[in-house]
Amino acid sequence: MFKTNYHSHSEFCDGTGKLEDYVKSAIERNFDLFGFSGHAPLPFKNDWTMPKNDLPAYLEETKRLKTVYKNDIDLKIGLEVDYIENTMSPSDQYYRDLGLDYIIGSIHLLPDTNTGEYLGVEYLKSEMEQLINNTFGGNTQLLVKEYYRLVRDMSEHGGFDIMGHLDVVKKTNINSIYFNETEDWYKAEIDSTLECIADNKQILEINTGQVLNDPTRIYPSPWILQMAKSYDIPIMLNSDAHRPDHIDNYFEEAKLMMINAGYRELKVFIEDKWISDKIT
Ligand SMILES: [Zn+2]
Ligand SMILES: [Zn+2]
Repeated sequence: MFKTNYHSHSEFCDGTGKLEDYVKSAIERNFDLFGFSGHAPLPFKNDWTMPKNDLPAYLEETKRLKTVYKNDIDLKIGLEVDYIENTMSPSDQYYRDLGLDYIIGSIHLLPDTNTGEYLGVEYLKSEMEQLINNTFGGNTQLLVKEYYRLVRDMSEHGGFDIMGHLDVVKKTNINSIYFNETEDWYKAEIDSTLECIADNKQILEINTGQVLNDPTRIYPSPWILQMAKSYDIPIMLNSDAHRPDHIDNYFEEAKLMMINAGYRELKVFIEDKWISDKIT
């Protein structure tokens, strides 16, 4: 089995450490392939994506590293691009023109309709609660349904290879404080979203970024992965590392979860295409 990770954030966005530190860590840990996926710039001020002015330096540095380390590791250059309705989308021509190896499509933000600002559904409880109260009249179910409507919308627009952290909206839902994943309405949202991803032939990411000693916090939840298998949706494994020493965090737990869901293969990006590799 190839050792790979395509989801990483350096100090160019909200990670710590230089891009080169990630490369060194990947070589030390015997990775075959490693991908950079800095957060693409947003059209408004924030403290977690790359500023637009830094994008050329990011592309230049990743290209330099690709050349310098070409005999040690296969490096790929990507971005994690947000989908923000009517504002930005991984399908925008702008990203095609950057000549990237791959794109991760993700949703992190929803608009607060009172203040006009965009807040995280995968960040702080305070932001989640501001959204629930200001935009959704105190109804969490409406927020969650809106999140998945946008995921389907992003999937329909396409332009990306990897569906990033599908159920990231559960991040602050510790002990089901906001919603219960076993409820029918939630299962129905997941079902129609997976159907959409299957139709659009995108790869579902198994993301170990927020495990924090609790493997049930891998994205997506184990039952969702089982449902994805019933749609034959291809999967891949990413750590969403924000530190060089986190690039293979919880990979063993994630592999076990894939096997338990019925998967025997996952996708890896070799040369210029996604191929199947046996999970071992
Ligand atoms: Zn993300
Ligand atoms: Zn990320």
